[in-house]
Amino acid sequence: MIMHKELPIISPDKFHDECAVFGIYGHEEAANLTYLGLYALQHRGQEASGIVSGDGDQFYIQKGMGLVADIYNKTTLEKLPGRMAIGHNRYSTAGGNDLKNVQPFNVNFAFGNLALAHNGNLINAQVLRNELEAYGAIFQSTSDTEVIIHLIAHSRASTFLARVMDALNQVRGAFSLVLMTDNGLIAVRDPHGLRPLCLGRVRGSWVVASETCAFDLLDAEYIREIEPGELVVLSDQGIDSHRPFPKVDPAMCVFEYVYFARPDSRIYGANAVYSTRKALGRRLAKESWVDADIVIPVPDSGVPAALGYSEGGGIPFETGLIRNHYVGRTFIEPEQSIRHFGVKVKLNAVPEVLTGKRVVVVDDSLVRGTTSRKIVKMLRNAGAKEVHMRISSPPIVSPCFYGIDTPTKKELIASNHSTEEIRKYITADSLAYLSLDGMLQSAPGVPAQYCNACFTEKYPIAFTRAEEMQLGLFGPSADVKKVM
Ligand code: AMP
Ligand code: SF4
Repeated sequence: MIMHKELPIISPDKFHDECAVFGIYGHEEAANLTYLGLYALQHRGQEASGIVSGDGDQFYIQKGMGLVADIYNKTTLEKLPGRMAIGHNRYSTAGGNDLKNVQPFNVNFAFGNLALAHNGNLINAQVLRNELEAYGAIFQSTSDTEVIIHLIAHSRASTFLARVMDALNQVRGAFSLVLMTDNGLIAVRDPHGLRPLCLGRVRGSWVVASETCAFDLLDAEYIREIEPGELVVLSDQGIDSHRPFPKVDPAMCVFEYVYFARPDSRIYGANAVYSTRKALGRRLAKESWVDADIVIPVPDSGVPAALGYSEGGGIPFETGLIRNHYVGRTFIEPEQSIRHFGVKVKLNAVPEVLTGKRVVVVDDSLVRGTTSRKIVKMLRNAGAKEVHMRISSPPIVSPCFYGIDTPTKKELIASNHSTEEIRKYITADSLAYLSLDGMLQSAPGVPAQYCNACFTEKYPIAFTRAEEMQLGLFGPSADVKKVM
């Protein structure tokens, strides 16, 4: 769950729920494959990881803080028997490094064992939590996800599946979820399909994962995307698909295409992350071409867009910045001082490429402007004659409440500064963003199928007054001006 620094959220911990989920049913080596799946999904969450396996009677749990490769080893994986398992990677938190918040969550209740892994963010979690606590519910964590477990436990529906459906009809927001019971797995995607969730098969067993790069590592076959609003039950009886929610328009996160998903993944049913990023760059070149000697990416996420810009703009592509791959993503560092340091630690300029050159530097997004400012300085110090910053998405003007970690509106530089003011701040010779149309037309399918709220403030799920209060969206210090 995202809890922004200045927001009046009751729980002290700050969650940033950009996460990865994985599940497997019917495999002798369920935990080992879950480990591999989580390894491939490391980019979606680097702060903590957990695996829960099940053998039909009992659940077995291993969790830890840090990277997947550091948490699990032969010994810990041997403690995870059973033919089914689910796993979760969690993104960074600006505090509250606490194992109690590490997913999957698991409980034992009237219907047996239950474990749950969630990617997304529920906008009414605090409202529901307050109600549940008023009825005596005791929460173990500060996570929005735990609310789902309580709602399932409190439901009056007669079967377990009906309880899950009942619970999920009460939560609002983004959820790609994998649940495990003693009998099988349930995978479900919220009605808008805000976050991806894919279904595959590996040697007769079912697998689900946030992105298909997890399947590739297992040699699993991609079957299809779990559709927005679809719930599937995976068990010895095979696959059983349900539609438990009233139908709404899809609103899949377009930022997965811009930045978050791995370029080798297939998401939202299309094999198009890499090609979309290139198309964003081509379009950017068309919209904001500048006479320059070379185009360089901010590695790694800016690479496909820079290739597209180079192709579209007829300017040679070069590698002018080198990334140290052993440092985590800049953005996960919580403090300004560390973040500044982080850019230097992570990226270094190549003087022989840059000296005397007019340089176009392409990045996927500009959030606070911290990275860009550092990069421009670095390029000039390495001899660049001119530095033209190009961003392959529109200005980010409003926070995401659906599971992507964005800072508050106050910290989003484009929410309160013009492009010219930002250009001055980052000290570039020129700065241009991709237009909203340019971004939406570069993504596969129709523009209307995507959420673009962080660029437009048009949130696909209207906030109730209580949610506005809880999320700090109301009043003079409101974090967002208006919602749809
Ligand atoms: P900033 O320095 O705050 O402008 O951050 C911009 C950089 O952060 C870009 O290079 C992006 O690739 C990266 N970025 C954008 N959004 C996120 C996110 N939600 N999590 C991690 N990194 C991000
Ligand atoms: Fe994605 Fe932005 Fe919508 Fe969040 S607000 S789901 S980051 S498009």
